[in-house]
Amino acid sequence: MGSAPGGAYACPQHDLAVQGAIERLASEFSHRACRKTVSHVVCGSRHDLDTSPVHALPELVERLARQRLLQLTDFVVD
Ligand SMILES: [Zn+2]
Repeated sequence: MGSAPGGAYACPQHDLAVQGAIERLASEFSHRACRKTVSHVVCGSRHDLDTSPVHALPELVERLARQRLLQLTDFVVD
């Protein structure tokens, strides 16, 4: 109930919020993470935001996924 067909992290299709975030982050992180990793992180972020209002998703998904990718790739800010 409420779970995506095919398993939580195996979504072949997502809403535009996710597709857009994957495009931008894949380009932004092209030197640190492969597209598969970016897709995985964005997808996971999207699922964690399932209860958020749809209109807020594009921004929220991208922000959360970027944060996770930075941590994942050990990006040092200072
Ligand atoms: Zn997904």
